[in-house]
Amino acid sequence: MKDKSIDKGRRALLKGVAAVPVLAIAGYQIPARAGMLSVDDPTAQALGYVEASATEGQNCANCALYSGAADAASGPCTIFPGKDVTAAGWCRSWNPKA
Ligand code: SF4
Repeated sequence: MKDKSIDKGRRALLKGVAAVPVLAIAGYQIPARAGMLSVDDPTAQALGYVEASATEGQNCANCALYSGAADAASGPCTIFPGKDVTAAGWCRSWNPKA
């Protein structure tokens, strides 16, 4: 006579193991960052984004919405999810870091 709890546990394990190759075949991937923000991006244009700030004392690196590393040349910005902006950049949504 089989132990039903062992069968249930084995079945659950096999389902979990089977799911991994199915996801791999389906091409599932953790979303990658899309790269650098283009100045031609419609939202970037609407906000006047530039890759090199012409506004004294204001750039992406010292903007509250920027989350790049202090020594990085670029990093993420809350306004442009999935894209990096240049640390030297600027747009009209600039806000000073607290
Ligand atoms: S809001 Fe504008 S200035 Fe601030 S980090 Fe983003 S692109 Fe740069």
